Amino acid sequence: MNKLQGKIAVITGGSSGIGLATAQRFVEEGAYVFITGRRQAELDKAVALIGRNVTAVQGDVSSSEDLNRLYEVVEREKGCIDVLVANSGIVDPTYLNDISVEHYDGTFDINVKGLLFTVQKALPLIRDGGSIILTASIAATKGIPGYGTYSATKAAVRSFARTWTLELQDRGIRVNSLSPGPVDTPIMESQASTQEQVDQLKASFAKAVPLGRLGRPEEIASAALFLASDDSSFVAGIDLCVDGGMAQV
Ligand code: NAD
Repeated sequence: MNKLQGKIAVITGGSSGIGLATAQRFVEEGAYVFITGRRQAELDKAVALIGRNVTAVQGDVSSSEDLNRLYEVVEREKGCIDVLVANSGIVDPTYLNDISVEHYDGTFDINVKGLLFTVQKALPLIRDGGSIILTASIAATKGIPGYGTYSATKAAVRSFARTWTLELQDRGIRVNSLSPGPVDTPIMESQASTQEQVDQLKASFAKAVPLGRLGRPEEIASAALFLASDDSSFVAGIDLCVDGGMAQV
């Protein structure tokens, strides 16, 4: 219960789903967490749920100003970061024929540009020996109709983990990506307009998973804890898939 005792963590998209479960787990393990998200009301709920050792900073990862403000707060309150989880992301299923510039820019701005600058701007605060976890997706290695843009963003994220592992090796900072399979979070609801469609989507994903079900956010949080803690002290540059086998068989 103390794998992150005294550690400072920043989790983008920590107000919901996988990020929220990760924030809860990190605090249980002794960390102080900063969470971000776009909606203040969601952040307030998350802070109440986490209960202690948490600061919420509202902001959009695709905005440089918002990221600067986030790290100003972290620097003022704690002075450094031990673990960064760059987790914010969106999915907007769209088939190739229907892809617009707005769809492309919107997805890449958050999932790729936002993640890149989340990490770049954190670097002066990240302690040598720290851990950076990038939330990718098994969609990066699968062909899923309608997920072309999303999958491409996640392939970029997985690629960043390789390059940054080498660029940060002198500081002993480990960079890894974490690729969930389908997980039951609000991102599922965001992809459909009726409850019936949401249920259909979840059922079709569950069918594609060898373990026969969706993952739970807590199961991804356990993997994030592994990558954040000394349990993974010799693990760098990997993509850790937590997907019930979906992309493995
Ligand atoms: P979610 O919708 O519950 O959480 C997404 C989080 O990202 C929210 O906190 C939201 O506020 C935040 N966010 C979105 N856009 C943002 C922006 N512009 N600026 C700041 N924050 C922003 O979904 P989730 O399933 O918990 O997703 C978390 C991550 O996991 C995402 O990167 C997603 O792509 C990835 N992922 C999810 C699944 C899944 O099936 N749930 C599978 C693979 C990968």
